[in-house]
Amino acid sequence: MDRFALAPAAIFDGERLREAHAAVVEGERVVGVEAVGALPEGMEVRELPGCTLLPGLIDCHTHLSDWMLPAFLAAGVTAVRDTGNDLAWILRRRERTRADPMAGPDILCCGPLLDGSAAFWPHIGRSHTDAAAIRRSVDEMAERGMDAVKLYVHLTTEQIGAAATQADQRGLPLLAHLGPSVDLATAVSAGVREVQHLTGCVHHVEGWRTNVDEVAASAASLARAGVAQCPTLVVWDRLCRLNDTAFRHDRRDRWVHPEISAVWQRFPHRTGDVADRLDRQRSVNTMKRVLGALAGAGCTVIAGSDAPFPHLVPGFSLHDELSLLVDAGLEPAAALASATSVAADHLGLADYGRIRAGSIADMVAVGGHPLEDICVLSDVRLVLRRGRIVNFEALGATAAQLFARPADDPFSRLMIDFAEPAAGRG
Ligand SMILES: [Zn+2]
Repeated sequence: MDRFALAPAAIFDGERLREAHAAVVEGERVVGVEAVGALPEGMEVRELPGCTLLPGLIDCHTHLSDWMLPAFLAAGVTAVRDTGNDLAWILRRRERTRADPMAGPDILCCGPLLDGSAAFWPHIGRSHTDAAAIRRSVDEMAERGMDAVKLYVHLTTEQIGAAATQADQRGLPLLAHLGPSVDLATAVSAGVREVQHLTGCVHHVEGWRTNVDEVAASAASLARAGVAQCPTLVVWDRLCRLNDTAFRHDRRDRWVHPEISAVWQRFPHRTGDVADRLDRQRSVNTMKRVLGALAGAGCTVIAGSDAPFPHLVPGFSLHDELSLLVDAGLEPAAALASATSVAADHLGLADYGRIRAGSIADMVAVGGHPLEDICVLSDVRLVLRRGRIVNFEALGATAAQLFARPADDPFSRLMIDFAEPAAGRG
């Protein structure tokens, strides 16, 4: 099998920066990271001047639709975790991408949102009236081969505890989006070890009520307990700035299905009054301060976007999330690790998230130096998927075909119905 090397200006291998090195690829794997001067004579070398080569990025919080898959690859996101979708639909997509990796990123999935007595999102949620019911659902998710289970906002503390115990017995990771009635300390004592959106410690509308000092005081014990945070700052940032005209001029929108772009323009939060929007903006600042305190104390932070909520272009919104993590006080290397090595370790993906001998050859080259300016991430120059260079033109053609069809998969339907409940498409 032919070997070739990618020789960028620098390699961020998931943990540290290496200059004057090349990644050597054979088949689907990286077989080594070598000093450029030490490459064997005659080896095919693809120079990437001015570029930094990174491991393929991992988005730990998305809700997939078919039209999103080309966008992820265009952005260098080569693995995603779906955190709530129709069970049968997501299983089919996971199978399809396993069979054809060039069709999209690798998919991990949680199946439906496991919710309390009423499902907040009926399209993708499942209601449970008691602890026994949620234990049965966790068993079913294990039997269907889910990669994790996701708990949702209406669950009681008793149900959360039952789900956590059952998931632990089945060896199934568990993540939670906590509702307003369950605080983080309670959830952690019930067994939760991964939290979405900083729920349980920040209110997304009335964030000023959060006592940041109190959260900071508990941060070290949360870190010791192994609590990971998937903050998805970017979705809250966008939800409080839906009316910003800047987002109407985002050229990356060409990777978004036109029906969904249209939904973004009429999303319900747009009509909220100015005071409400400003309160939400204050809450995003509180989220950043809380995250800075948690990360500073050593809590694991993994990156997720919550695409395709408004103005979250699949894949590219993960770049935006990493910028916000830097705003919140993370070092750029820590932000990059949250979407590469740290994400892979957290998700149990041993061969992902790093550029080293033996890892899957999923990589992305960006123009410039993301450790100096995290914003260069969206300047994607080359994407390698399982050792093959992604053809952006072919990807654009695939996207165009998908955009010519109605966006009628379960999550697109959820978005369309949510933005226009009266016109629900049945
Ligand atoms: Zn979500």
